[in-house]
Amino acid sequence: MRAADVIVVGAGMMGAACAHLNWPTPACRCACSMRRRGGATRAGMGHLVVMDDNAAELALSQASLDQWHAWGPRMNADLPGCAYANCGTLWIAANAEEMAGAEAKAAGLRAHGIACELLDAPSLAKLEPALRPGLHGALKVGGDSVVYAPNAAQWLLAHAARPIAVEHAQVARIDGRRVHLSDGSVREGGAVLLAAGIHATDLCPGLPIRPKKGHLAITDRYPGTVRHQLVELGYITNAHQSDGTSVAFNLQPRPTGQLLIGSSRQFDTTDPAIDNAVLARMLRRALDYVPGLAELNAIRTWTGFRAATPDGLPIIGHHPHHSDLWLAVGHEGLGVTTAPATAQLLAAQITGAVLPLDPAPYSPDRFAGSLIA
Ligand SMILES: Cc1cc2nc3c(=O)[nH]c(=O)nc-3n(C[C@H](O)[C@H](O)[C@H](O)COP(=O)(O)OP(=O)(O)OC[C@H]3O[C@@H](n4cnc5c(N)ncnc54)[C@H](O)[C@@H]3O)c2cc1C
Repeated sequence: MRAADVIVVGAGMMGAACAHLNWPTPACRCACSMRRRGGATRAGMGHLVVMDDNAAELALSQASLDQWHAWGPRMNADLPGCAYANCGTLWIAANAEEMAGAEAKAAGLRAHGIACELLDAPSLAKLEPALRPGLHGALKVGGDSVVYAPNAAQWLLAHAARPIAVEHAQVARIDGRRVHLSDGSVREGGAVLLAAGIHATDLCPGLPIRPKKGHLAITDRYPGTVRHQLVELGYITNAHQSDGTSVAFNLQPRPTGQLLIGSSRQFDTTDPAIDNAVLARMLRRALDYVPGLAELNAIRTWTGFRAATPDGLPIIGHHPHHSDLWLAVGHEGLGVTTAPATAQLLAAQITGAVLPLDPAPYSPDRFAGSLIA
């Protein structure tokens, strides 16, 4: 029996955004399957940030931010726990070299119509007095925001443009348009959209996705300590390393007054346990920028896994060897931000509508050789 026009496998941020959309034509009824609550959406930081390391990343994140600005206030009104806040990002320059990087970044963003402002050291100290003295300045990107991603995904599912059926079930196998659940039952759709995060490799052999582990820590409530998402400019280098372990200063003020501290990146492990050495490195890095953190209580630490691809770009589009299978995977450390534009692109591709973005940089075809036919 055909259960839905599109069956979305995975109900993290990506699957939820895909199921939520008002698809162009035809009207699609989507069903999401979810093995368990969890995945990267539950573990991540929820920083909604325009990233400009390359044109494709910038296009996807910029288009997505526009949608987040529309969703955010609606989410907060319906489900305050979504905790959307337009706090902006301060990219911190620790020295003259990083300040030159901030200036180049500002020029690049402005060329794409993204408002931003360079801050000298006194202006930075005035905006964020908790930062240590001696920093060189910062770039402020005012449109960046934060959200509590697990609740945002829940809101997207609950407020979908058209009714959807959400099933809590483990998918064991995808066979053409058929989705086989672990209880032996089968669902059939017009198409299948795979948005299963790092577990997508179980259902689609040959997907070149590696888990990239990250640690986070959160403090008790200290309202007003920090007002913007603070990120060191060196983050950009660290975030894109394809091997080894790295840490970078990344601090988020939650609307509750809590401070969420990141970030670390680690390959070649799927062990979710806290790695004390990495956590300590990450916290030392944070203390280097905000020494007062040493006086605050951290109440929880945890880890999560980003789905990393070899070229750092997500895999969005049609499976090159399976006519009914569509992919929305490999968004690594930016998948909360980029879920809206990913969903818009896929909906247009599946229904044959006008594409909102050039799909080529994200196309699964670039991995046609490794994906199993
Ligand atoms: C430490 C950390 C910090 C991060 N910080 C940020 C940030 O600040 N900003 C940002 O934009 N992004 C951030 N990210 C990245 C972001 O969280 C992810 O890119 C995004 O959540 C991916 O969403 P997803 O839906 O693709 O995957 P997931 O959230 O992993 O969801 C996949 C879903 O599929 C389900 N599933 C898997 N297999 C099956 C199966 N066989 N059957 C049924 N269901 C299945 C899983 O249970 C899960 O619910 C961070 C990630 C981490 C780990």
